Amino acid sequence: MTHDDLWEKSLATIELSISKANFSTWFKNTSIISHINNHIVIGVPNGFAKEWLENKYQNYILKALREVDPSISSISCSVLSSDTKKPANVSEAPVINRFNKTSSDIQTKTPTFTRNTNNNLNTRYSFDTFIVGEYNELAKAACVAVSENIGKVYNPLFIYGNVGLGKTHLLQSIGNAIAKKYPEQRILYTTSEKFTTELINSIKNGTAAQFKNQYKKIDLLIIDDVQFLSGKEKTQQEFFHIFNTLYQEDKQIVISSDRPPKAINTLSDRLRSRFEGGMIVDIGSPDLETRIAILKEKASQSNFYVSDDSIHFIAENIKNNVRELEGALNRVKALCDLQKKEPTIQFIKNSLAELIESNQKRAIQASDILDVTLNFYEISKEDLFSKARKKAIVHPRQVSMYLIRSELNMSYPGIGKYFGGRDHTTVLHSYEKIAKLRKTDKKFNDEIEYLLEKIYKF
Ligand code: ADP
Ligand code: MG
Repeated sequence: MTHDDLWEKSLATIELSISKANFSTWFKNTSIISHINNHIVIGVPNGFAKEWLENKYQNYILKALREVDPSISSISCSVLSSDTKKPANVSEAPVINRFNKTSSDIQTKTPTFTRNTNNNLNTRYSFDTFIVGEYNELAKAACVAVSENIGKVYNPLFIYGNVGLGKTHLLQSIGNAIAKKYPEQRILYTTSEKFTTELINSIKNGTAAQFKNQYKKIDLLIIDDVQFLSGKEKTQQEFFHIFNTLYQEDKQIVISSDRPPKAINTLSDRLRSRFEGGMIVDIGSPDLETRIAILKEKASQSNFYVSDDSIHFIAENIKNNVRELEGALNRVKALCDLQKKEPTIQFIKNSLAELIESNQKRAIQASDILDVTLNFYEISKEDLFSKARKKAIVHPRQVSMYLIRSELNMSYPGIGKYFGGRDHTTVLHSYEKIAKLRKTDKKFNDEIEYLLEKIYKF
């Protein structure tokens, strides 16, 4: 089979598994340039495409290639200089018509930053509907402060936390609050993925300068899920320039991520130190009271009557994040409506059986983790909490911190406090060190698996 045949067949599979926009952005002008020792090298037109294909689409590509030729074991991308560039094999596929855009089409894709329109804000999100508990009050307070003093406090504001904990809700609320109070302010909410895609498209369409200039006119730039910039050096460079321009003019920048700047691998140092120069706040997991409050609020918003006992039951059993909590309530409501039943505890138990089971895994506490690690490493609690720096104590301490973070999703500052007032960066460092070691050291990984088994046997 020729390289072209192989690639064409694989592209047909890939096309089905990703969005048309992404397909046309990332797979145009690509080709297989070598196939040696089960390794495929894909020729790509620029560094952006290389970064994206290798970082984000590697698995899709490999899977598609292996469907055609199972012996293929790895891929890499190589940027072709313009004289070696071959025409894209994909150019005949119907989706590719998207490439042949007229310049007027392109105009509509480039964001225009008019007041309150095209700013990607969804009015569904507001501070009023955001329920506060201990785990997120700092994050909300920082967001409210920014919305009241745009560009003057906390710049940039960097919010991080796991999925479904309300980051997008908060970021959007800032935008909506400002849009309402200061309609003349130019606001843009975007995700780092959208930013990258639009940047690349503008480069292709020759409208890059215009694209970048539009950004530089913004008063409030909100970038959600910035962790996706990880590994994309060129995109980071462009973002950095925009960031600097805005920052120097005291324009407000708000960023979210699923992890702190330090833990975003391959974030360029200058971007990282910029992020760290502002305010960094994390969102942990909601406690029981907050989960109850959130459920009550959501139930009343959708006119769904649920008894306190039933609310309590859901909150006790669904703990991971707010999105799941919301999903659980919606599911119960839908089933009640459908079957014309009341949301009794028994009914909820049946409706949410699977979700409850997957949450049970989390029904442990930090003290359960400590019981297991102290026992396993044969050290005392006093030693673990002491400032001792002997390896025999540091190692179990780091493992304990790691497990408390990975299993309970306790915030880094929270863990620091729990361990007798240590700095959150110490905790973060421990977490990363152990996470890395698990990947590189099989025997150590077995040790952790063993500990996890013990922890969950309770
Ligand atoms: P993230 O961006 O962190 O993944 P989202 O902001 O998308 O999470 O939140 C998931 C869902 O939970 C959304 O529907 C959001 O409105 C809701 N939600 C999250 N936190 C809260 C909260 N504290 N109060 C009310 N609703 C919340
Ligand atoms: Mg989000």
